[in-house]
Amino acid sequence: MDLSVVVPCFNEERGLKELREELNAVLPALVGRYEVVLVDDGSSDGTLDEARRLSSLDRRYRYLSLSRNFGKEAALLAGIREATGDRVLLMDADLQHPPWLLNDMLGLLDSGYDQVVARRDRDGEPRVRSLLSKMYYIGVNKLADVPLEDGVGDFRVLSRRAADAVLAMPESNRFSKGLFAWAGFRTVTLPYGNVTRKHGESAFSFGKLVNYGIDGVVSFNSKPLRAAIYLGSTVTLLAFVYAIYVIVSGLLGNPGVPGYATLMVGIAGFGGMQLLFLGVIGEYVGRIYFESKNRPHYFIQESGGSPHQQSALPH
Ligand code: UDP
Ligand code: MG
Repeated sequence: MDLSVVVPCFNEERGLKELREELNAVLPALVGRYEVVLVDDGSSDGTLDEARRLSSLDRRYRYLSLSRNFGKEAALLAGIREATGDRVLLMDADLQHPPWLLNDMLGLLDSGYDQVVARRDRDGEPRVRSLLSKMYYIGVNKLADVPLEDGVGDFRVLSRRAADAVLAMPESNRFSKGLFAWAGFRTVTLPYGNVTRKHGESAFSFGKLVNYGIDGVVSFNSKPLRAAIYLGSTVTLLAFVYAIYVIVSGLLGNPGVPGYATLMVGIAGFGGMQLLFLGVIGEYVGRIYFESKNRPHYFIQESGGSPHQQSALPH
Protein backbone atom coordinates (compact mmCIF):
# COMPACT_ATOMS: atom_id res chain seq x y z
CA MET A 1 0.00 0.00 0.00
CA ASP A 2 1.55 3.32 -1.07
CA LEU A 3 -0.67 5.69 0.85
CA SER A 4 -3.28 5.58 3.58
CA VAL A 5 -5.58 8.56 3.93
CA VAL A 6 -6.97 8.92 7.44
CA VAL A 7 -10.10 11.05 7.76
CA PRO A 8 -11.72 11.73 11.16
CA CYS A 9 -15.43 12.39 10.65
CA PHE A 10 -17.81 13.87 13.16
CA ASN A 11 -21.21 14.66 11.67
CA GLU A 12 -19.87 14.96 8.15
CA GLU A 13 -22.56 13.08 6.22
CA ARG A 14 -22.94 15.90 3.72
CA GLY A 15 -19.26 16.28 2.97
CA LEU A 16 -18.09 12.70 2.46
CA LYS A 17 -19.43 12.20 -1.03
CA GLU A 18 -17.64 15.28 -2.26
CA LEU A 19 -14.50 14.32 -0.40
CA ARG A 20 -14.44 11.01 -2.26
CA GLU A 21 -14.97 12.74 -5.59
CA GLU A 22 -12.12 15.13 -4.92
CA LEU A 23 -9.76 12.44 -3.65
CA ASN A 24 -10.52 10.19 -6.56
CA ALA A 25 -9.82 13.06 -8.89
CA VAL A 26 -6.31 13.67 -7.61
CA LEU A 27 -4.94 10.55 -5.92
CA PRO A 28 -4.80 7.99 -8.75
CA ALA A 29 -2.42 10.24 -10.66
CA LEU A 30 -0.15 10.69 -7.63
CA VAL A 31 0.18 7.30 -6.01
CA GLY A 32 -0.13 3.67 -6.95
CA ARG A 33 -2.27 1.83 -4.42
CA TYR A 34 -4.04 3.82 -1.77
CA GLU A 35 -6.69 3.34 0.85
CA VAL A 36 -8.95 5.78 2.64
CA VAL A 37 -9.77 5.10 6.27
CA LEU A 38 -12.87 6.98 7.41
CA VAL A 39 -13.16 7.17 11.17
CA ASP A 40 -16.68 7.94 12.32
CA ASP A 41 -16.19 9.59 15.69
CA GLY A 42 -19.60 8.80 17.18
CA SER A 43 -21.51 11.04 14.79
CA SER A 44 -25.17 11.61 15.44
CA ASP A 45 -26.10 12.14 11.79
CA GLY A 46 -25.84 9.74 8.87
CA THR A 47 -22.03 9.77 8.70
CA LEU A 48 -21.79 6.04 9.44
CA ASP A 49 -24.32 5.14 6.74
CA GLU A 50 -22.42 7.28 4.30
CA ALA A 51 -19.15 5.59 5.27
CA ARG A 52 -20.75 2.17 4.81
CA ARG A 53 -22.04 3.25 1.44
CA LEU A 54 -18.69 4.56 0.25
CA SER A 55 -16.85 1.44 1.34
CA SER A 56 -19.30 -0.82 -0.45
CA LEU A 57 -19.04 1.36 -3.53
CA ASP A 58 -15.28 1.64 -3.61
CA ARG A 59 -12.90 -1.03 -2.37
CA ARG A 60 -10.30 1.54 -1.46
CA TYR A 61 -12.56 2.89 1.26
CA ARG A 62 -12.69 1.45 4.74
CA TYR A 63 -14.34 2.72 7.83
CA LEU A 64 -14.21 2.46 11.59
CA SER A 65 -16.95 3.63 13.85
CA LEU A 66 -16.09 4.56 17.41
CA SER A 67 -18.54 3.66 20.16
CA ARG A 68 -19.15 7.33 20.99
CA ASN A 69 -17.62 10.73 20.28
CA PHE A 70 -14.07 10.45 21.62
CA GLY A 71 -12.77 13.62 20.00
CA LYS A 72 -10.67 14.25 16.94
CA GLU A 73 -7.41 13.21 18.56
CA ALA A 74 -8.71 9.74 19.39
CA ALA A 75 -10.27 9.41 15.95
CA LEU A 76 -6.93 10.26 14.34
CA LEU A 77 -5.16 7.71 16.50
CA ALA A 78 -7.69 5.03 15.56
CA GLY A 79 -7.17 5.82 11.90
CA ILE A 80 -3.37 5.88 12.04
CA ARG A 81 -3.38 2.52 13.84
CA GLU A 82 -5.53 1.13 11.10
CA ALA A 83 -3.44 2.58 8.28
CA THR A 84 -1.31 0.07 6.41
CA GLY A 85 0.33 2.41 3.89
CA ASP A 86 3.97 3.37 3.52
CA ARG A 87 2.82 6.93 3.83
CA VAL A 88 -0.01 8.20 5.99
CA LEU A 89 -1.98 11.28 5.08
CA LEU A 90 -4.19 12.95 7.67
CA MET A 91 -6.95 15.23 6.48
CA ASP A 92 -10.27 16.65 7.63
CA ALA A 93 -13.52 15.48 6.10
CA ASP A 94 -14.83 18.97 5.46
CA LEU A 95 -12.53 19.77 2.51
CA GLN A 96 -10.90 22.55 4.48
CA HIS A 97 -7.78 20.57 3.75
CA PRO A 98 -7.69 21.04 -0.01
CA PRO A 99 -6.84 17.88 -1.99
CA TRP A 100 -5.08 19.92 -4.69
CA LEU A 101 -2.24 20.44 -2.23
CA LEU A 102 -1.53 16.70 -2.15
CA ASN A 103 0.60 16.81 -5.26
CA ASP A 104 3.11 19.12 -3.58
CA MET A 105 2.84 17.42 -0.20
CA LEU A 106 3.54 13.94 -1.52
CA GLY A 107 6.26 15.31 -3.77
CA LEU A 108 8.03 16.85 -0.80
CA LEU A 109 7.71 13.66 1.23
CA ASP A 110 9.27 11.69 -1.58
CA SER A 111 12.13 14.13 -1.81
CA GLY A 112 13.27 12.88 1.57
CA TYR A 113 11.12 14.31 4.33
CA ASP A 114 9.34 12.34 7.01
CA GLN A 115 6.62 14.85 7.73
CA VAL A 116 5.11 17.35 5.36
CA VAL A 117 2.86 19.75 7.21
CA ALA A 118 0.43 22.05 5.48
CA ARG A 119 0.05 25.44 7.10
CA ARG A 120 -2.99 27.55 6.38
CA ASP A 121 -3.28 31.30 6.74
CA ARG A 122 -6.29 32.69 8.56
CA ASP A 123 -8.10 34.56 5.78
CA GLY A 124 -11.86 34.59 6.17
CA GLU A 125 -11.78 33.64 9.81
CA PRO A 126 -13.46 35.75 12.48
CA ARG A 127 -10.97 38.49 13.46
CA VAL A 128 -11.15 37.80 17.17
CA ARG A 129 -10.48 34.14 16.68
CA SER A 130 -7.43 34.65 14.53
CA LEU A 131 -6.07 37.35 16.84
CA LEU A 132 -6.51 35.11 19.87
CA SER A 133 -4.81 32.21 18.12
CA LYS A 134 -1.90 34.41 17.14
CA MET A 135 -1.45 35.50 20.74
CA TYR A 136 -1.81 31.92 21.88
CA TYR A 137 0.97 30.69 19.64
CA ILE A 138 3.31 33.45 20.70
CA GLY A 139 2.69 32.47 24.33
CA VAL A 140 2.81 28.74 23.82
CA ASN A 141 6.11 28.90 22.02
CA LYS A 142 7.64 30.72 24.97
CA LEU A 143 6.38 28.00 27.30
CA ALA A 144 6.28 24.69 25.48
CA ASP A 145 9.26 22.50 24.74
CA VAL A 146 8.13 21.67 21.23
CA PRO A 147 7.73 24.39 18.61
CA LEU A 148 4.11 24.85 17.55
CA GLU A 149 3.28 26.97 14.54
CA ASP A 150 0.18 29.02 13.99
CA GLY A 151 -2.09 27.56 11.33
CA VAL A 152 -0.42 24.20 11.44
CA GLY A 153 -3.11 21.64 11.97
CA ASP A 154 -3.56 18.02 11.31
CA PHE A 155 -3.24 18.24 7.55
CA ARG A 156 -0.01 16.36 7.05
CA VAL A 157 1.65 13.40 5.40
CA LEU A 158 3.84 11.12 7.46
CA SER A 159 6.38 8.58 6.39
CA ARG A 160 5.88 5.13 7.84
CA ARG A 161 8.51 5.69 10.51
CA ALA A 162 7.05 9.04 11.55
CA ALA A 163 3.60 7.43 11.80
CA ASP A 164 5.05 4.60 13.89
CA ALA A 165 6.72 7.16 16.12
CA VAL A 166 3.38 8.83 16.77
CA LEU A 167 1.81 5.45 17.51
CA ALA A 168 4.57 4.69 19.97
CA MET A 169 3.42 7.51 22.23
CA PRO A 170 0.97 5.97 24.62
CA GLU A 171 -0.38 8.96 26.49
CA SER A 172 -4.10 9.27 26.77
CA ASN A 173 -4.16 13.04 26.70
CA ARG A 174 -3.28 13.44 23.08
CA PHE A 175 -2.44 16.87 21.80
CA SER A 176 -1.53 15.66 18.36
CA LYS A 177 0.02 18.87 17.04
CA GLY A 178 2.53 18.57 19.86
CA LEU A 179 2.97 14.81 19.48
CA PHE A 180 3.85 15.20 15.81
CA ALA A 181 6.31 17.95 16.56
CA TRP A 182 7.80 15.98 19.43
CA ALA A 183 8.35 12.96 17.19
CA GLY A 184 10.78 15.03 15.14
CA PHE A 185 12.27 13.62 11.93
CA ARG A 186 12.80 15.78 8.90
CA THR A 187 9.81 18.06 8.74
CA VAL A 188 8.85 20.68 6.21
CA THR A 189 5.97 23.15 6.19
CA LEU A 190 3.91 24.00 3.14
CA PRO A 191 1.70 27.12 3.33
CA TYR A 192 -1.71 27.34 1.67
CA GLY A 193 -4.66 29.74 1.58
CA ASN A 194 -7.47 29.24 4.06
CA VAL A 195 -10.59 27.42 2.85
CA THR A 196 -13.86 27.86 4.70
CA ARG A 197 -16.20 24.99 5.54
CA LYS A 198 -18.87 24.15 2.97
CA HIS A 199 -21.22 21.90 4.91
CA GLY A 200 -22.15 21.89 8.57
CA GLU A 201 -20.40 23.75 11.33
CA SER A 202 -17.05 23.55 13.03
CA ALA A 203 -17.16 21.12 15.93
CA PHE A 204 -14.79 23.32 17.86
CA SER A 205 -16.58 25.94 19.88
CA PHE A 206 -14.72 28.74 21.59
CA GLY A 207 -14.77 26.85 24.91
CA LYS A 208 -13.36 23.71 23.30
CA LEU A 209 -10.59 25.75 21.73
CA VAL A 210 -9.64 27.28 25.08
CA ASN A 211 -9.40 23.79 26.61
CA TYR A 212 -7.39 22.66 23.63
CA GLY A 213 -5.06 25.59 24.22
CA ILE A 214 -4.48 24.61 27.83
CA ASP A 215 -3.71 21.05 26.72
CA GLY A 216 -1.14 22.43 24.32
CA VAL A 217 0.71 24.17 27.12
CA VAL A 218 0.64 21.53 29.82
CA SER A 219 0.96 18.41 27.67
CA PHE A 220 4.43 19.23 26.61
CA ASN A 221 6.33 20.69 29.49
CA SER A 222 6.38 21.40 33.14
CA LYS A 223 7.50 24.98 32.81
CA PRO A 224 4.34 26.39 34.42
CA LEU A 225 5.22 24.33 37.51
CA ARG A 226 8.72 25.69 37.43
CA ALA A 227 7.35 29.20 37.07
CA ALA A 228 5.30 28.52 40.20
CA ILE A 229 8.48 27.63 42.07
CA TYR A 230 10.38 30.71 40.87
CA LEU A 231 7.54 33.13 41.42
CA GLY A 232 6.62 31.60 44.75
CA SER A 233 10.16 31.82 46.08
CA THR A 234 10.68 35.38 44.81
CA VAL A 235 7.48 36.55 46.46
CA THR A 236 8.35 34.79 49.72
CA LEU A 237 11.79 36.38 49.70
CA LEU A 238 10.33 39.84 49.11
CA ALA A 239 7.85 39.30 51.93
CA PHE A 240 10.70 38.26 54.21
CA VAL A 241 12.74 41.35 53.34
CA TYR A 242 9.72 43.51 53.91
CA ALA A 243 9.10 41.91 57.31
CA ILE A 244 12.69 42.65 58.35
CA TYR A 245 12.25 46.23 57.18
CA VAL A 246 9.10 46.61 59.29
CA ILE A 247 10.77 45.16 62.38
CA VAL A 248 13.90 47.25 62.00
CA SER A 249 12.00 50.49 61.40
CA GLY A 250 9.81 49.64 64.42
CA LEU A 251 12.91 49.15 66.57
CA LEU A 252 14.30 52.48 65.32
CA GLY A 253 11.22 54.12 66.80
CA ASN A 254 9.15 54.88 63.70
CA PRO A 255 5.50 55.26 64.59
CA GLY A 256 3.45 52.33 63.29
CA VAL A 257 1.50 53.13 60.14
CA PRO A 258 -2.02 51.80 59.84
CA GLY A 259 -0.82 49.62 56.98
CA TYR A 260 -4.26 48.50 56.08
CA ALA A 261 -3.74 49.03 52.36
CA THR A 262 -0.47 47.14 52.22
CA LEU A 263 -2.02 44.33 54.18
CA MET A 264 -4.98 43.98 51.90
CA VAL A 265 -2.85 44.22 48.77
CA GLY A 266 -0.58 41.59 50.20
CA ILE A 267 -3.35 39.20 51.11
CA ALA A 268 -5.09 39.62 47.79
CA GLY A 269 -1.88 39.34 45.83
CA PHE A 270 -0.60 36.25 47.56
CA GLY A 271 -4.02 34.66 47.70
CA GLY A 272 -4.44 35.13 43.99
CA MET A 273 -1.04 33.78 43.19
CA GLN A 274 -1.59 30.74 45.37
CA LEU A 275 -4.87 29.99 43.69
CA LEU A 276 -3.30 30.39 40.27
CA PHE A 277 -0.50 27.99 40.93
CA LEU A 278 -2.67 25.55 42.82
CA GLY A 279 -4.59 25.46 39.57
CA VAL A 280 -1.40 24.82 37.61
CA ILE A 281 -0.37 22.03 39.95
CA GLY A 282 -3.87 20.59 39.92
CA GLU A 283 -3.70 20.52 36.14
CA TYR A 284 -0.66 18.27 36.23
CA VAL A 285 -1.97 16.13 39.07
CA GLY A 286 -5.17 15.62 37.10
CA ARG A 287 -3.12 14.55 34.13
CA ILE A 288 -1.19 12.04 36.22
CA TYR A 289 -4.51 10.68 37.43
CA PHE A 290 -5.77 10.29 33.88
CA GLU A 291 -2.61 8.73 32.56
CA SER A 292 -2.38 6.33 35.49
CA LYS A 293 -5.79 4.89 34.63
CA ASN A 294 -4.28 3.86 31.34
CA ARG A 295 -7.62 3.50 29.67
CA PRO A 296 -8.04 2.66 26.02
CA HIS A 297 -8.28 5.77 23.88
CA TYR A 298 -11.49 4.63 22.21
CA PHE A 299 -13.60 1.59 21.40
CA ILE A 300 -14.51 0.48 17.92
CA GLN A 301 -18.10 -0.59 17.57
CA GLU A 302 -18.11 -1.33 13.89
CA SER A 303 -15.70 -1.45 11.01
CA GLY A 304 -15.97 -2.42 7.42
CA GLY A 305 -14.35 -2.59 4.04
CA SER A 306 -11.17 -4.44 3.14
CA PRO A 307 -8.62 -5.57 4.23
CA HIS A 308 -10.20 -7.01 7.35
CA GLN A 309 -13.66 -6.97 8.76
CA GLN A 310 -13.71 -6.80 12.50
CA SER A 311 -15.87 -5.44 15.23
CA ALA A 312 -16.06 -4.64 18.92
CA LEU A 313 -12.32 -4.80 19.37
CA PRO A 314 -10.98 -2.72 22.23
CA HIS A 315 -8.01 -0.55 21.34
N1 UDP B 1 -13.81 15.84 14.27
C1 UDP B 1 -13.84 14.59 14.89
N2 UDP B 1 -14.28 14.52 16.18
C2 UDP B 1 -14.67 15.61 16.89
C3 UDP B 1 -14.59 16.88 16.26
C4 UDP B 1 -14.16 16.95 14.95
O1 UDP B 1 -13.50 13.59 14.28
O2 UDP B 1 -15.06 15.46 18.06
C5 UDP B 1 -13.34 15.94 12.86
C6 UDP B 1 -14.30 16.66 11.91
O3 UDP B 1 -15.24 15.77 11.36
C7 UDP B 1 -13.35 17.20 10.85
C8 UDP B 1 -12.10 17.49 11.65
O4 UDP B 1 -12.18 16.71 12.85
O5 UDP B 1 -13.07 16.22 9.85
C9 UDP B 1 -11.96 18.96 11.97
O6 UDP B 1 -13.12 19.41 12.64
P1 UDP B 1 -13.77 20.82 12.34
O7 UDP B 1 -13.86 21.05 10.88
O8 UDP B 1 -15.04 20.85 13.12
O9 UDP B 1 -12.71 21.78 13.00
P2 UDP B 1 -12.08 23.13 12.42
O10 UDP B 1 -11.85 22.92 10.94
O11 UDP B 1 -13.07 24.18 12.70
O12 UDP B 1 -10.82 23.28 13.18
MG1 MG C 1 -13.02 22.19 9.58
